[in-house]
Amino acid sequence: MQIPFINLRVEPDFNQKIKSRWEESLEKSQFIAGKALTELNHKILDFTKAKNFIPCANGTDAIQIALRAVGIGQGDYVLLPDFTFWATYEAIINVGAKPIMVDICPQDFQMDFDLFLMAVAKYSPKAIILVHLYGWCSLRLAEFREFCKAKNIYLIEDGAQVIGSFYQGKPIFENAFIATTSFYPAKVLGAAGDAGGIFTNNPEIAQICTQLANHGRSSHYGHEYVGWNSRLDEVQAHYLVVALDYLTKRIDSRRSSEKKYLKFQAEISQNTKINLPLEMKATPPGIESNGYLQVSLAKTSYKELAETLRLKGIGCGNVYPSPMSAQKGAGQLNELITKDRITYEVCKRVINLPLFPYMRDEEINYICESLIS
Ligand SMILES: *Cc1c(COP(=O)(O)O)cnc(C)c1O
Repeated sequence: MQIPFINLRVEPDFNQKIKSRWEESLEKSQFIAGKALTELNHKILDFTKAKNFIPCANGTDAIQIALRAVGIGQGDYVLLPDFTFWATYEAIINVGAKPIMVDICPQDFQMDFDLFLMAVAKYSPKAIILVHLYGWCSLRLAEFREFCKAKNIYLIEDGAQVIGSFYQGKPIFENAFIATTSFYPAKVLGAAGDAGGIFTNNPEIAQICTQLANHGRSSHYGHEYVGWNSRLDEVQAHYLVVALDYLTKRIDSRRSSEKKYLKFQAEISQNTKINLPLEMKATPPGIESNGYLQVSLAKTSYKELAETLRLKGIGCGNVYPSPMSAQKGAGQLNELITKDRITYEVCKRVINLPLFPYMRDEEINYICESLIS
């Protein structure tokens, strides 16, 4: 059997629905700011329970727009976790700010709250970007939110991986001051190319984001800010509108596969003396994940275990193999607040087993059996 790391399976009638919508756009020459964008706005606010949604071209732009909208610029310090995708780091640099990496907590692999407090004391940052990695978030998200609000630090939540997840029983973006997302095809809500967006409960910030993403426009030829073109077009909006209709089904399917992996691990460890070559992580308590990624730690290293699985036809991921502070592109801007360099250890050992919508039982069984044979 061959099982790739990701297989973007869709519903039997999905592609046909997309084609007829795209055909209509083509015939009416509706490509920018059409009816699909309006539909997307309503549907996504209903799904996320956020107050405002600002569509944009991709998830990286979304972070830059959010930073700009809250006034982050030249010389401002911005904290970010050492464990994230490079886009988070890039966005800070691209607005002229100074990134400070903060190590992660070994329980949830998200920014460590105590190290965050140390970083705040040392740098008085104007903003912090929390990255909700793996469809989870920090166990202490509520404390991050309260602290930032009390100290007037802008908290931007990079939610590229977390749409559809719940924190303390609430959709995660509902109580975010400002959060960003990516609709990169492999994300939980993926487009047919690049797209992204911003959620905020603040109407003034929402207005600035909308303008920044469209040349700083206040009218067609009136430009209140220097923004850029980061529009989301109708091709992507149509695709996302249809995908949103199926999103709950897709997430349920991901979650149920995730549970099957964990059930296998629990049974193996109870009934036999077989040692698994990895330790599967469950979603931390208080969080209901969207099933974006299966997360395990290899007993040896990612490389070794991935090679064993590859020979059995199984793809897997290593999200992510390098800390931000170790990236060549960071150069001298690699200040890291840490005690035990947890990110460095996790990067070497983290392994993500296949987890995508509509996985079949025989696929999960094959992967599980391959782990013990
Ligand atoms: C995917 C991702 C991004 C970037 O999104 P793009 O749409 O690819 O620009 C940013 N942050 C995180 C955590 C991501 O996973």
